[in-house]
Amino acid sequence: MLKKRLNQCLDLILPPACILCDAACKSTINLCQACIADLPYIKQACKTCGLPLSNANLTCGACLINPPIYDRLVTPFYYQHPLNFIVTAIKFHNKLNYAKILGLLLADAVRQRVFNLPEIIIPIPMHRERLKERGYNQALEIARPISRLLDIPIDYQSCARLKSTSPQTGLKTKQRRQNIKNAFHIRRDFTAKHVALVDDVVTTGSTITELCKVLKSYGVKHIQIWGCARTVLT
Ligand SMILES: [Zn+2]
Ligand SMILES: [Zn+2]
Repeated sequence: MLKKRLNQCLDLILPPACILCDAACKSTINLCQACIADLPYIKQACKTCGLPLSNANLTCGACLINPPIYDRLVTPFYYQHPLNFIVTAIKFHNKLNYAKILGLLLADAVRQRVFNLPEIIIPIPMHRERLKERGYNQALEIARPISRLLDIPIDYQSCARLKSTSPQTGLKTKQRRQNIKNAFHIRRDFTAKHVALVDDVVTTGSTITELCKVLKSYGVKHIQIWGCARTVLT
């Protein structure tokens, strides 16, 4: 509480600065309007999997032939500068306040694109060893402002990560799937039927697919994936 008051007082004396260009910004998001406008938005994407498409918002061929296990994936940005800078700062340089920025941007994208909101938000869980190392789960920190803005509770206790999987980057798709198999556990009393999974970056989706499988086996009917940024494999 004291820290919050102190920050509010500091904001009055020193207006909040944009984390990218240092310009003073009035918004609560700590990004100036020019930097927000310059973000690498995915303007047109598949309505189901969020894959960037060159024409109007349709469903991509891959989703038509083989629909994914989830209902909808929303990722507003490409994982490029400055998203990679922001995510790295959150994960490895303790810039926890940057997670709020990503959460606010993601909430805004969800508000514009999603009309059937879920019952709960589940941040992609982190293994307790890694949680101990880092001290926080960035997915949970990103989920907090989304929960507040959209008025949807966060459930970070029903779902646990059992395996401390090696980092997914640098692995081929098949290896990623193998790496993540049986990595999640859901509490027996889990009852939600419509959930949104929140993560910072969506890559090939093998982590997400595995978690979706487990959730479906617990009777979840509808799953949305909300990620801040996506890597696009070419
Ligand atoms: Zn700026
Ligand atoms: Zn698609």
